[in-house]
Amino acid sequence: MQDKIIFAASSPDPTALQASWQQQLSNAIRDPAALCTRLGLPEAWLPGASAGHALFGICVPDAFLRRMTPGDPSDPLLRQILPLGEETVTPPGFVADPLEEADHQPAKGLIHKYAGRVLFIASPTCAINCRYCFRRHFPYSENAPSRAQWQEALDYLRADTSIHEAILSGGDPLAANDRQLAWLVEQLESIPHLKRLRIHTRLPVVIPDRVDDALLGWLASTRLQKVVVLHINHANEIDQAVVDACTRLKQAGATLLNQSVLLRGVNDDVTTLATLSERVFEAGILPYYLHVLDPVQGAAHFDVDDEQARELLAGLRDVLPGFLLPRLVREIPGEASKTPL
Ligand code: SF4
Repeated sequence: MQDKIIFAASSPDPTALQASWQQQLSNAIRDPAALCTRLGLPEAWLPGASAGHALFGICVPDAFLRRMTPGDPSDPLLRQILPLGEETVTPPGFVADPLEEADHQPAKGLIHKYAGRVLFIASPTCAINCRYCFRRHFPYSENAPSRAQWQEALDYLRADTSIHEAILSGGDPLAANDRQLAWLVEQLESIPHLKRLRIHTRLPVVIPDRVDDALLGWLASTRLQKVVVLHINHANEIDQAVVDACTRLKQAGATLLNQSVLLRGVNDDVTTLATLSERVFEAGILPYYLHVLDPVQGAAHFDVDDEQARELLAGLRDVLPGFLLPRLVREIPGEASKTPL
């Protein structure tokens, strides 16, 4: 008989936990006035927040909000989710689809840019709307396939034996329900040449309760090697609940990596980035990428120029061991991989 896997902090009633993360998601703040009131922000911020919100709606769950300092407009977590009037300004070079993903979609909900791996838009929604997101203008409504439509993407994978890795992305793939995800993973693992399942997600950070027994069940049982790439930009995002969620993911056999985006006003100094790497590693995650901002419309105010980015990396190299140093990269449309700076 196979040993039952006991996950740390698991609940005797998985249904209750699943309802809990879904409830947290449905209760997320989606209104700039409510956000300003909740965090005690000056009223003067509201017109700008409303202007940005009209372009890309605000979404922030309480579990993430609780890690912010009330009354501090420069809180590094707040700056990632607070819409600003600057979002209405579009300097030259900032566009709706900076990575030109529309040119690499062989099937609905599937992006194939790099050799050996393909990316599924496994969910059209996220648990949080990050203001700098390069997919903030992505046409999710045209890329939210049903199971029947997934078959086209799965057929594409079956036919190409050079593909060894499937990446679940979105939106946030873990915003999909576990029945749907378990079904998709079952389909994927039936493809003999597929070796790895990679999940790009921010949900275990934003709502740690998302890492519940239902999720761990399908994750632990797949034959595919599992890599979970989390997205954390500042050490303040990691509280004990996030550490516990990471522990559960590792118990399910996942390798944990982190990718960050270099963001003006959030993490654009050596001390903040070094603390992030240290804290990420303490949570059982390896620093992986530090992306420079993709030039997406509405996010130009987050941009850090290349020279400063290289100086920051040099400063990090002086204070961190090599294994805690993320790779500083840019994604350039048409290139065969990410480009190191
Ligand atoms: S969670 Fe990821 S995909 Fe969703 S808005 Fe944030 S950066 Fe974009």
